[in-house]
Amino acid sequence: MRLIDRIFHRLFVKVLESKYSGWLAVASSCVSVSPDWPAHRAGAILTVDLAAIAANYRLLDARTPGALCAAVVKADAYGLGAAQVAPALEQAGARHFFVAHVDEGLALRQWVSPATQITVLHGARPEAVEDCVRSGLRPVLNSLEQISQLQSLAKQLDRPLDAVLQLDTGMSRFGLSGADVQRLAQEPERLTGISLSLIMSHLACADTPENPANADQLRTLQTYAALLPKAPLSLAASSGIFLGEAFHQSLVRPGAALYGIAPNTSGPNPLAPVVTLQAHILQIRQLSKGDRVGYGLTWQADGPRRVATIATGYADGFARQGAAKGCAWFRGQRLPLLGRVSMDSMTVDISAIPEGQITADDTVDLLNDAYGVDALAAAEGTIGYEVLTSLGRRYHRVYKNTEQNI
Ligand SMILES: *Cc1c(COP(=O)(O)O)cnc(C)c1O
Repeated sequence: MRLIDRIFHRLFVKVLESKYSGWLAVASSCVSVSPDWPAHRAGAILTVDLAAIAANYRLLDARTPGALCAAVVKADAYGLGAAQVAPALEQAGARHFFVAHVDEGLALRQWVSPATQITVLHGARPEAVEDCVRSGLRPVLNSLEQISQLQSLAKQLDRPLDAVLQLDTGMSRFGLSGADVQRLAQEPERLTGISLSLIMSHLACADTPENPANADQLRTLQTYAALLPKAPLSLAASSGIFLGEAFHQSLVRPGAALYGIAPNTSGPNPLAPVVTLQAHILQIRQLSKGDRVGYGLTWQADGPRRVATIATGYADGFARQGAAKGCAWFRGQRLPLLGRVSMDSMTVDISAIPEGQITADDTVDLLNDAYGVDALAAAEGTIGYEVLTSLGRRYHRVYKNTEQNI
């Protein structure tokens, strides 16, 4: 687009957005993709800002100048929708994607260009190795068994097969143990027919930068890798990027940071917020002193209160254990949650909002730019990763800024 067109387009979008704020995605750079939960019927609207995801990718890429910056889109891009998120990341420059399962990789193949590389973190189960390779997915080899399975296929196909080797450097989760590495070093023929394009490991404590385990894991990775055929190394996910250049190696694998989650708690979050969530009020009621609210009647009014029942509950991913510290927001005003979270609804105290300024069918924010995924996670006693991947299927979803050029 020419600059003048871009400016005009942006103004046009802004006007439309302010006119139909939130509930109807009409602007050409907004796309609604919830056929079963249309905006005018859905209880809540989840908005995903693709430009913010792209900006976060660029920020992480710029912070790791010596490394390739991949993008992790497992679990449907952390619940945000890989079909929309992956193309936005590709437009922002990502050429290497990571998923957990072969099936996630098969789905992703149709949303990114054929030349874009997709790596499967779990590798493939024995019966699925062929599906994986024939679909152009690169498996991570996490065990000597997975190595020999890929080697058999390479023999059968009579061509070398590309793979990533994962080493366990302390987390005891995935990858070759120290003993396995020794074995592989002594029996290099185990890798014949396999072209190792990357050797990776994963940090257990990267969100606590002062933890000595981080440097230990880096050292262990380098020590093990020195015993194996030479290949580029990868260690850092989102938080690892912020541990400094030594951790970047040849490729970094951020997921959470792309979606706005803070890499650690040691400073302000440098990443842009990506999701907002607005829930409709279903009903407003007046309570008198002594009235009680919700299952178990656990909350009791100590005086007159106005409360609103809103259309989001634990079935939509709003954790029940978040009730005590939970809240919603209305024009910058915090509205505390009262009593227990139900399956499809919860109750908030709206007494602080003058009567007439809030009515049934208005929306309140459950996530906004000021109160984001990490804040909600803290209230629920969990982490932002779990908040995102728990986001419900009943929201109407709007993808903002689908046109990356503007
Ligand atoms: C999930 C995952 C990532 C991405 O982690 P974030 O903390 O979300 O950046 C990277 N590498 C591996 C092996 C993973 O499992």
